[in-house]
Amino acid sequence: MEIKLANFVGSYPSVEKCIESDLPEYAFIGRSNVGKSSLINALTNRKSLAKTSSTPGKTQMINYFLINEAWHLVDLPGYGYAKLSKKHRASLKQMINNYMIKRSQLVNTFVLIDSRHSPQKIDLEFIDFLGQHQVPFSIVFTKTDKNKSDKKTLSNVDLFKEELLKSWEVLPPIFLTSAVKKIGTASVVEYIDGINKQL
Ligand code: GDP
Repeated sequence: MEIKLANFVGSYPSVEKCIESDLPEYAFIGRSNVGKSSLINALTNRKSLAKTSSTPGKTQMINYFLINEAWHLVDLPGYGYAKLSKKHRASLKQMINNYMIKRSQLVNTFVLIDSRHSPQKIDLEFIDFLGQHQVPFSIVFTKTDKNKSDKKTLSNVDLFKEELLKSWEVLPPIFLTSAVKKIGTASVVEYIDGINKQL
């Protein structure tokens, strides 16, 4: 599937305020600075559809984009941004969790993980939360071009898989991507297309 049309729909402060729509939704989430905006721009072939914020954590709304007039891409706030107050972080977390649990249009969540790092507690906790609430998800490793070698990327991916296998019997779909080099982005789009065709 080629993404021909990608339009910003709106930004909403809570799941209760999100647009009414029957279209399937695909959410993108990860730690601040994980490369989410860059990935969304690469997936949609747009330079600045999603705002690559120089101030991480700036985008704190639920942002909707209409893709090919057929589905919604939902850009969620980055989690765990250290510079926010504890209270602010807690309210963002609440907003994200409510969206995950309550949004019936949500078909799949793409959890973005920086491929340069060993498994981080905050990501594993978020994935656990999705599991507890039976929210379908996939994992997208980002910034693979930043690793010194493919071997390094794969060893970080393996470490992550090992962590997941401690609590999961079956691994979710996993994508290895670089927004800069446009690696793996077509696979993510094809995956979405495949699900849409089954709905
Ligand atoms: P966000 O806060 O998760 O939306 O992250 P951004 O998309 O704004 O990216 C954070 C930083 O990582 C920016 O400096 C990007 O240029 C950089 N970045 C994002 N994706 C990639 C990638 O695939 N490769 C490289 N080399 N840098 C990336």
